[in-house]
Amino acid sequence: MAAILLDVDGVFHVSGEPIAGGGEAVRRLREAGHRLRFVTNNTTRTRAQQAEDLRGMGIELDEEELQTTPRAAARALKGKRVLALTMHSIVGELEGIELVGEDAEAVLIGGAGETPETSLVFSFMNLARAFHELEAGAELYCLHKNRWWQTKDGPLLDAGAFVAGLEYAADTEAIVLGKPSTLFFEAALEALDADAGMSWMVGDDIEADVAGAQAHGMKTVLVRTGKFRPDAVERGSVRPDGIVSSIAQLPEWLEQNV
Ligand SMILES: [Mg+2]
Repeated sequence: MAAILLDVDGVFHVSGEPIAGGGEAVRRLREAGHRLRFVTNNTTRTRAQQAEDLRGMGIELDEEELQTTPRAAARALKGKRVLALTMHSIVGELEGIELVGEDAEAVLIGGAGETPETSLVFSFMNLARAFHELEAGAELYCLHKNRWWQTKDGPLLDAGAFVAGLEYAADTEAIVLGKPSTLFFEAALEALDADAGMSWMVGDDIEADVAGAQAHGMKTVLVRTGKFRPDAVERGSVRPDGIVSSIAQLPEWLEQNV
């Protein structure tokens, strides 16, 4: 029996379209006595919405089992004056943060979405405003720094490009709140009362999921769905402990290899 952190996007669904066998896999993992936590870098849906989305795909879970980046931001930036470039849908999750348009103590960059809202949030005017705040001494935070993610229409540019652009322009380094930050993995393992060395991370992202969890001392399984690319595994230096064709194969793989 182990503690298992499960990525959501690209593991259980792509653009909301379920990946076959997810619900059955979660049931089998629970029956085998594994402790589960769903860890997601999603920045466009609230925790309640995401739990509801997953239940709609036949995956049984409590909302409290989902660990999201806006909640991590709320913890890290509590009581601070923050200029937030994030999707409107998650603003309600940023509890305890004072959202401001100027004189910010911190700039928070969220992830991109698949709707036209992304163009408004990351407009030149907003990015220039963020740059101005950074120049005036605000600290740079981001929900994640992902380069791209897999949608049903193919790979889509993510907000990591804007984070990197602001880091370059303001000559600063962003604090990453979601995967692959150690703080995010630590919080997930703490919630399961688990040691990193005895725990697994399962995801479709060789950087944020696999390399991130390995750097935190965890074991990893990569799924061949979502943003998985064979050449990223073959050419890269990151080696997961296991590779399965999809989440549907995970319970059996763990039975044979753990
Ligand atoms: Mg993913």
